[in-house]
Amino acid sequence: QKQVFSFQEGSAFMRNLLGGKGANLAEMTRAGLPVPPGFTITTEACLTYFQQDHMISDALLRQIIDALNRLEKEKGERFGDETGPLLISVRSGSVTSMPGMMDTILNLGLNDATVAGLASKTNNPRFAYDCYRRLIQMFGNVVLGVESYHFETLLHRIKQRHGTARDQEVPAEGWLELIEEYKMCIRKESGRSFPQDVYDQLKMAVEAVFQSWNNPRAKLYRKLNRIPDSQGTAVNIQSMVFGNMGSDCGTGVVFTRNPSTGENHFYGEYLMNAQGEDVVAGVRTPKPIASLKQDHPELYDRLYEAAKQLERHYKDMQDIEFTVEKGKLYLLQTRTGKRNAQAALRIAVELVREGLLSKEEALQKIEVAHLDQLLHRGIDESAVLDIVAAGLPASPGSAAGQLVFDADTAAEWKKAGKLVVLARPETTPEDIHGVMASEGVLTSRGGMTSHAAVVARGMGKPCVCGCEQLRIDAEEKRMMAGGRTWSEGDWITLDGGTGRVIAGAVPLKEAEMTEELLVILQWADEVRALRIRANADNPVDARIARQFGAEGIGLCRTEHMFFAPDRLPVVQQMILADHDEERKAALEKLLPMQQSDFEGIFEEMDGLPVTIRLLDPPLHEFLPQAADLQEKLHALQSEPEPKESEIEEVGRLLKKVQSLHEANPMLGHRGCRLGIVFPEIYAMQIEALFHAAANCTGRGIAVLPEIMIPLVGHASELKLFRELADRLAKRIDPEGRLPYRVGTMIEVPRAAITAHQIVEYADFFSFGTNDLTQMTLGYSRDDAEGKFLTHYLEQKLLPDNPFQVLDTEGVGRLIEWAVRAGRNHKPELKTGICGEHGGEKESIRFCHQTGLDYVSCSPYRIPLARIAAAQAAI
Ligand code: ADP
Ligand code: MG
Ligand code: MG
Repeated sequence: QKQVFSFQEGSAFMRNLLGGKGANLAEMTRAGLPVPPGFTITTEACLTYFQQDHMISDALLRQIIDALNRLEKEKGERFGDETGPLLISVRSGSVTSMPGMMDTILNLGLNDATVAGLASKTNNPRFAYDCYRRLIQMFGNVVLGVESYHFETLLHRIKQRHGTARDQEVPAEGWLELIEEYKMCIRKESGRSFPQDVYDQLKMAVEAVFQSWNNPRAKLYRKLNRIPDSQGTAVNIQSMVFGNMGSDCGTGVVFTRNPSTGENHFYGEYLMNAQGEDVVAGVRTPKPIASLKQDHPELYDRLYEAAKQLERHYKDMQDIEFTVEKGKLYLLQTRTGKRNAQAALRIAVELVREGLLSKEEALQKIEVAHLDQLLHRGIDESAVLDIVAAGLPASPGSAAGQLVFDADTAAEWKKAGKLVVLARPETTPEDIHGVMASEGVLTSRGGMTSHAAVVARGMGKPCVCGCEQLRIDAEEKRMMAGGRTWSEGDWITLDGGTGRVIAGAVPLKEAEMTEELLVILQWADEVRALRIRANADNPVDARIARQFGAEGIGLCRTEHMFFAPDRLPVVQQMILADHDEERKAALEKLLPMQQSDFEGIFEEMDGLPVTIRLLDPPLHEFLPQAADLQEKLHALQSEPEPKESEIEEVGRLLKKVQSLHEANPMLGHRGCRLGIVFPEIYAMQIEALFHAAANCTGRGIAVLPEIMIPLVGHASELKLFRELADRLAKRIDPEGRLPYRVGTMIEVPRAAITAHQIVEYADFFSFGTNDLTQMTLGYSRDDAEGKFLTHYLEQKLLPDNPFQVLDTEGVGRLIEWAVRAGRNHKPELKTGICGEHGGEKESIRFCHQTGLDYVSCSPYRIPLARIAAAQAAI
């Protein structure tokens, strides 16, 4: 079996086998771009390695050596040649890009003998020893597991000894000293020696790259980005080109468009006289690519041409690594550039306008999760801003939080419910869980393409980096600037769009819809079949929803209106009533309140359907906690002059609360079961709805109310309320002018199974997938998420949290069944979902495929749902 492919043999279509980096190196080679030659060991070989007890088979080894021999011929150099060796890089490369998560080793093939050969052949000992010390450090770290800081400390000392702060000024003798110190350090820390046999180096490096697939940060990254663990990584072996050979050499990273704004201009950074990882690691702060245009215009032009060629080829913005050796340009990597939502939209729109993409292709490229970012906040500029420093605007959006200086604390504080901002001198891939936990990230070193920036952008977190005015002391947990000091826990605000760092917690304001988003949404609307409604409980949310493009309200929860401070006492009065008279009195007070709520919503949704769900939660949710009442009672009784009437009042309340106590409220007296026991509550709500509809209609507003009965499990329940609604409609609107519908939530499995019976009384089914999921899986949501669900997810017993991503195989089957049965009996039946899943892209895809009429989600997720619905339809 072929497990090794040269760059000439591969192509972009072989991504699964060669990994993204390998496939693209091959594709660039085919396109005639200047790529140093090399070959790729397949992901299959990696998986085989894991299966076969972590052993590189002889067959694989032979294929590697063969490919290496061919590379030697092509380059006219020999691996391990003491008079001037072929040097190679051993680079990880997974199928799905995981920037910085796995390992790469450069300058492989150097040892005490070949380094001398390299020095004399290039007539540049300083360069040769620079390569060697880099190899020993990378090899020591990646293969032999010696922590980087050991090397950093030694490097720092060498620089001090030679009176410089800059790597590129260390003389050859300095590197020679460092090389010996590094070797000693490796012996001390790992108990092993840096291998002098170059074939040992190669074999160990390949194994280490295979194994880096399973390092903790790579695993976490995969989990976060839902990348399957079963892919494995490819390994790319490539002849070295050197950006560290002198001042006509360099290395850098460019994006063909700005990944923060999407503007169509070249964007990137470079360093002269440096090797690849210097730029991304943030050890030196690089120069903006614009200065390359000034300093080396021809080089810039060549780079620009190549980059644009790649962009046209891949029909998308590219993120490109390049190196210049003695004035000659080489491309070392290209991939689809990570970008934030704003940039994604702008790029998509402009690529369509430039004729590179069709609208459908552009829509497919939008990452729905990224749209969340757009609905991110910005600084309220009218506030007084105490600007402390300005760094690079690496990832837009604003964040306020309490300062923390290490990733673990960030994670802990986040768990404790705090908002944190992670400040680090620079971030490394080990900090990823801290970045995840924080509202935003701040670094004092590193450029726009540094690790912190890349990771933050990917997660849609605000990030300010390279903020050199700040001294961030992670050991002491302090940050200093302009004579001021901030400690752990102090509040700070970041503006990732401008790079400002602001003291204190600045008020933030919500974002608006950009022009590009409106264009994309327009395209999405042309394509999608699903209608998008909103879950909105009040006129303000209804207005926001409409602005975001809601085509109706799919769920208005009436109980939320009951919780308002002026209403709650009346609601309590209703619940506590001892007899019907008393309850009627309370309901009469509630009716006009409820009616005015409905009117407000109808006004906002003029011309669009509004689904109003009758009271759903168990009644005790409206009453104080028994323990609190007991305490209060106790306090009253122990007063010097106890007030009898008050005691009696509280005692009565306590009794009622106790009588309403349920062992399992989730399956208790809630939903339409309330309407069964207290029909006057539902009657009041329906009356209020019809009065509101009549009033609005009178004022020329088009009202399309839909009365939704929750938690129905049996057709007889719905029949009862259908009759009630019809009766009340006749009374309030004898001429039958008000259009209205009556329907039910399908959220009890029995309702789905008996849909053919229930549909007789229903004009619509709305799948309440939160409850339907709870009841189908038998998980109480509140208990599951806090307790056992994480175990299920970690052990991969479930693919996703079923409360986030619809369980299509289980819950989905019930939905399909109910839709089919319902439509068989009543073709005009309307169907939709209104659970949290209505705003989640995979679930939306399912709804489209099942032929539902609409999904309903929170107002802020509507743009996302519109695009997801379009993607499902393409
Ligand atoms: P990562 O996936 O972390 O970016 P890479 O394999 O791309 O790791 O390599 C890290 C750095 O080393 C990059 O800057 C890359 O351009 C550089 N590099 C890799 N191979 C070579 C090579 N053959 N010659 C010169 N530089 C290289
Ligand atoms: Mg790379
Ligand atoms: Mg429910």
